[in-house]
Amino acid sequence: MGPIGLLDGKIIDLNENVIQMEDRGYQFGDGVYEVTRVYNGRCFAFNLHMDRLYRSLRELRIPATYTVDELAEFHERLIAESGIKEAGIYLQITRGVAPRAHGFPDNVVPKLTMTIRQANPNNNLREAGATGIFVPDVRWMRCDIKSINLLGNLLAKQQAKDAGVFEGIQVRDGIVTEGSSSNFFVVKDGILWTHPLSNLILKGITRTVIVDQLVPQLGLTLVEKTFDVAFVKKAEEAFVTGTTTEIMPFIQLEGAPVGDGKVGPVARKLHQALMAAVARECGTK
Ligand code: PMP
Repeated sequence: MGPIGLLDGKIIDLNENVIQMEDRGYQFGDGVYEVTRVYNGRCFAFNLHMDRLYRSLRELRIPATYTVDELAEFHERLIAESGIKEAGIYLQITRGVAPRAHGFPDNVVPKLTMTIRQANPNNNLREAGATGIFVPDVRWMRCDIKSINLLGNLLAKQQAKDAGVFEGIQVRDGIVTEGSSSNFFVVKDGILWTHPLSNLILKGITRTVIVDQLVPQLGLTLVEKTFDVAFVKKAEEAFVTGTTTEIMPFIQLEGAPVGDGKVGPVARKLHQALMAAVARECGTK
């Protein structure tokens, strides 16, 4: 059997043609998603992902038709059926299928699709340190919603790809917001900085784990305040965070070294602490 997915609770072969042409996800990008990381066959920070999923649904007025328990069971079934223990599980809920019209259709049932894929931990790049560039943040004003409308993010990532670097760090009105698919942190004079929560960034689960658990645990000092590109250029460290990215340190931004041009101690310590949290929750060694 090839790669598998799940459609409204049923395991499917990914190569089956299951999506209807008038699915609003397909026609409008009218839907939300989550990506959960599986370590050792167990989902990490599952409840935080589900809380964000239901918030995204509420913000877009898409009815929730599955309970957290059902969604947990679907994740477990995908892991069991695929046999993949180190995975990324993608979950998408669209508003459903209806004749194409911009206004929300009445009485439409949302459509749930999920896939499971082997994770790529990218540890070699993490050890060596990544590169990045700054790109304009051209996204809409509700970047706090995890919508499947990702064209702004795609353009940012493609600019990075074209430049031969790992990530595009987005800048709006002179302020550094976040990566194309990651949150952005810097260390300046020993203090950790990241963009405050607002409509201009996604409340990343990895960001939440860092801010709420790892920063106090490691005795770090954090400020959630905006900063510009000139500030980043004076920082000792810079890194991005995300579910599949974990913590990825930059050694170079815009072709210039970050700090001393080596992977910094704060990024390294945070990644170790994150992996320790994963070990406690998922039973990895
Ligand atoms: N910001 C954006 C724009 C993202 O796409 C992601 C990845 N989903 C993140 C931040 C990081 O979020 P998380 O830690 O929940 O993966």
